[in-house]
Amino acid sequence: MLIETKNLTHIYMPGTQFQVEALKNVNIRIEPGEFVGIIGETGSGKSTLIQHLNGLLTPTNGSILIDGKELERSSANLRRLRQRVGLLFQFPEHQLFEETVYNDVAFGPKNMGLSEEEIAIRVREALSLVDMDFEQFKDRSPFELSGGQMRRVAIAGVMAMEPEVLILDEPTAGLDPEGRRVILEQIKKIHHQKKLSVILVSHSMEDVSRLADRLYVIHQGRIVLSRTPAEVFSERSRLEGYGLALPPIAELMQKLKEKGKAVRTNIFTITEARRELLSLQERRKGDV
Ligand code: ADP
Ligand code: MG
Repeated sequence: MLIETKNLTHIYMPGTQFQVEALKNVNIRIEPGEFVGIIGETGSGKSTLIQHLNGLLTPTNGSILIDGKELERSSANLRRLRQRVGLLFQFPEHQLFEETVYNDVAFGPKNMGLSEEEIAIRVREALSLVDMDFEQFKDRSPFELSGGQMRRVAIAGVMAMEPEVLILDEPTAGLDPEGRRVILEQIKKIHHQKKLSVILVSHSMEDVSRLADRLYVIHQGRIVLSRTPAEVFSERSRLEGYGLALPPIAELMQKLKEKGKAVRTNIFTITEARRELLSLQERRKGDV
């Protein structure tokens, strides 16, 4: 499924003294199967933008195109769109409300009018996508789970609708490093196994740098950069102006380069950094 925005502008509370122009002439394009990161500081418009992609917000100006056709906002169209474009809100655990994990994950498929058998198959598969054992978790209350587990149940609930696009709004916010690592690994696995498009929203360069094929950088409601992570990270001072820091490893490599070391800077993992530094050492030896 192809999603595009054309000159999308969104104004909250227009015509009042509280008016906020949250998006200004935004043009983005998400191809089928792509993994796209949307990155920007708090208040830059990320959440506003993604809520247009599944029809939750209506553009003040401009339009949303689905598979090349302008979205018509009939209730049937919007219902269908929300099933095809799954959106996981920030802190999704606040939206768990059923008594059991099973019922929470089954909520979407039930609303789609599927049979009990079909629902059971989907719940089982969705839980396995987030590495939660069906028998062990199905009858548990979501509220007894850890923060990371609750978030995984919420992801399962979206995946149970079998969307073609998965949008995640700051999915690692508030988690400890291990919880973050697990969630990011699962997102990567879901993208790989289900071949859907993923849109990962974050204010952390580190999160998106390892996963995304392409990044949109948003600043004060405008798209200011649209490139690969490596290309985006080469613009360090520009990013600072947008309130964004490089991933720690890339930052380290940049600093080494500034000190005159001939190292690559588009490096995001410790393993890669280690390899690069060892190879620098080898090259040095070769010189003498
Ligand atoms: P981000 O997700 O990047 O933090 P948001 O899309 O939430 O940014 O917000 C963009 C701008 O719109 C901010 O100035 C924010 O205060 C404002 N805003 C967001 N939601 C609302 C709302 N429901 N009503 C009024 N202003 C809002
Ligand atoms: Mg937000």
